[in-house]
Amino acid sequence: MALKRPIVIAHRGASGYLPEHTLAAKAMAHAMEADFIEQDVVLTRDAVPIVLHDIVLDSTTDVAQKFPGRARKDGHFYAMDFLLEEVQQLRAHERRTAASGYRSAAFPGRFPTGAALFGVPTLAQEIDLIEGLNKSRNKKAGFYIEFKSPNKHLENKLDVVAAVLDVLQEKGLAQQADRVYLQCFDDKPLIRLKHEFQSPLPRIQLIADNSWGEDSALDYDVLRSTAGLDHVATYADGIGPWISHIYLGRDDQDSPLVDDLVARAQASGLLVHPYTFRDDSLPGGMTTTAQLLELLIHKLGIDGLFADFPDTVVQFLDRTTL
Ligand code: CA
Repeated sequence: MALKRPIVIAHRGASGYLPEHTLAAKAMAHAMEADFIEQDVVLTRDAVPIVLHDIVLDSTTDVAQKFPGRARKDGHFYAMDFLLEEVQQLRAHERRTAASGYRSAAFPGRFPTGAALFGVPTLAQEIDLIEGLNKSRNKKAGFYIEFKSPNKHLENKLDVVAAVLDVLQEKGLAQQADRVYLQCFDDKPLIRLKHEFQSPLPRIQLIADNSWGEDSALDYDVLRSTAGLDHVATYADGIGPWISHIYLGRDDQDSPLVDDLVARAQASGLLVHPYTFRDDSLPGGMTTTAQLLELLIHKLGIDGLFADFPDTVVQFLDRTTL
């Protein structure tokens, strides 16, 4: 069967193989032919965009060893409390879990957590790496940038949206609508991008589960309703839903139970880019990667997919699409 080919988004780079958001993971994603490579962005105290998934440095760097005593009262080391020159002294490693006191691997089968071979890149450095590879490999891999915790930044007098747009402007990407997506779990940055900044870059509203306590006042259950999706379509070009809000498990006959979210969102004119495909963490009732990809891509017709293992998705698409 030959169907439309969705875009492959390397989630935090080829993070199934190398520590998330390191330049090494991004280079590997590029070599694996990901269409887009993801950047999660937070700001340093001096308002420089860096590529980091958490608003804190605890799980993926040696901050507790390098800067003991710099945690807030809640015990966490916030990236926004550190100057860029301090962040650049840190070593990044494979993600560890808070529950283990930052000792055990979040994904035990992945890169060793003890190896601190990498740094925390700035957004500008990462753009230079990917554009450099685009030149040397004659490719056009794009950027898929998430604004992390925008409200928490504003409380600390930091504007993550404006800071990212400044870097994109500097790098000649601010008008390149086919090369850059912007994403957020909150709606306000996306609405600002449309009206205040009049950015032409496509905007993706990420949809969390209400139980996760995202930095947003949005009710994600309402957002997934048809009226909610129609509202999202007034300020965004697409949604990034959780796979488990689409594939709900198995029924008594062992058939997949599916929500019609993908079809409803597309009927509202929205792209659908679900997260996160992981070879080593398949949802319940899925026994092979191909089963899950078959459902999402061929049965439901998603427009893109966030993947820790971009090579698995690219190979599946090469086998099964035009
Ligand atoms: Ca992200």
